[in-house]
Amino acid sequence: MDFAFSPRAKDYIERLTAFMEEHVHPAEAEYTRTLKTGERPWNVPPVMTELKARARAEGLWNLFLPESEYGPGLSNAEYAPLAEITGRSPIAPEIFNCNAPDTGNMEVLVKYGSPMQRERWLKPLLDGSIRSAFCMTEPDVASSDATNMQATAMVKGDRMVLNGRKWWSTGIGHPDCRLLIFMGLTDPEGPKHARHSMVLVPIETPGVRIERMLPVFGALDEPYGHGEVSFTDVEVPLENVIAGPGRGFEIAQGRLGPGRIHHCMRAIGASERALELLCRRALTRIAFGQPLASLGGNVDVIANARIAIEQARLLTLKAAWLMDTVGVKGAMSEISQIKVVAPSVAQSVIDAAIQIHGGAGVCDDWGLTALYAYARVLRIADGPDEVHRALIAKLELKAQAARVGIDIRKTRG
Ligand SMILES: Cc1cc2nc3c(=O)[nH]c(=O)nc-3n(C[C@H](O)[C@H](O)[C@H](O)COP(=O)(O)OP(=O)(O)OC[C@H]3O[C@@H](n4cnc5c(N)ncnc54)[C@H](O)[C@@H]3O)c2cc1C
Repeated sequence: MDFAFSPRAKDYIERLTAFMEEHVHPAEAEYTRTLKTGERPWNVPPVMTELKARARAEGLWNLFLPESEYGPGLSNAEYAPLAEITGRSPIAPEIFNCNAPDTGNMEVLVKYGSPMQRERWLKPLLDGSIRSAFCMTEPDVASSDATNMQATAMVKGDRMVLNGRKWWSTGIGHPDCRLLIFMGLTDPEGPKHARHSMVLVPIETPGVRIERMLPVFGALDEPYGHGEVSFTDVEVPLENVIAGPGRGFEIAQGRLGPGRIHHCMRAIGASERALELLCRRALTRIAFGQPLASLGGNVDVIANARIAIEQARLLTLKAAWLMDTVGVKGAMSEISQIKVVAPSVAQSVIDAAIQIHGGAGVCDDWGLTALYAYARVLRIADGPDEVHRALIAKLELKAQAARVGIDIRKTRG
């Protein structure tokens, strides 16, 4: 693998870093203050709108779609360091129109959408004028297994009728959220992986009701939020089905195409920010006559954090490089590996930064609480660690069995 960034990646890294330092980090406090103290916390702080326009004017927009006519067409390995940079700030991804779940939803429309669907929904999403949510997970079934979904999406003539309850629909509280992608059961008797459909649902369709917003460790994550949503006899035209009925599972698997590791890339940026804060605090705060950095095992904490971040970054870059060179299928194990590693490294580095800040670490002023919640949640929201480990082990056993000529089917109970 070639570890050097391309000249194009270097140019973007330079411009994005300058933009973050000049505009994004200085705006974080104002953004949070406006949301937390405003009368309407679910409104978009004006600074977000200003920064989006500025980023777009500077060509720092829609960086996430690889080899695409819809953006600069960066490869995954080129985008990785950029996503890392945006991961340093919770407000950055939206500023560059690179935030989940819109990125995954746009990928779906690029890959599977009809010309009509792209015209109506992809265009405004790429434009950043609307936002979207992805409604797959359900409260009543184990949703780490996408074949479990029970909500229904039934074909009735030239209409689709949707019923059921979803939760953890991220982004549904955003005032610009206009589009929901709903996954529902269409053919309960069909083959296991061809039973579900993905349907485009305008949020204002009668029968769609946000029952409540779910807090994450007590925070509602305004202005995006995570909704519990009921769908009662929701009707949309059949042409709103993505790629046709029965393709839902396939799309759910493909949805996270190149976007599969965007969160990992951002988690490394979050880890770097935490380590930076940790070191600053450790060098400048004195206890027992010495800087915190010199006390007890704190040097080991710092060294271990640096080692863990470097390992995680290299694995992320390897997974990105494999996706670019051999495709997602050939990168399955590395993708799952980094999905386990990156959030857990971020969680432990951010936790160490919280510890060195003492009481300051657990109040919101240093931003560490938001980073911690992000990292902790990723270990579930981006697919539970255990599910990724199961895939890594399955691929490993298959490869090892093939190497020594064991028929793996005969080893199953
Ligand atoms: C903040 C947040 C945002 C989210 N955003 C979205 C969104 O926008 N859209 C959406 O549709 N969903 C979203 N989700 C839901 C997320 O994708 C699911 O929570 C996740 O897939 C797990 O499903 P579940 O919660 O039903 O857990 P379950 O499937 O019930 O699993 C619970 C636990 O069981 C264990 N487990 C599961 N499978 C295995 C296995 N194979 N081996 C060993 N142990 C296992 C794991 O410990 C796992 O954490 C979000 C979740 C959170 C917390």
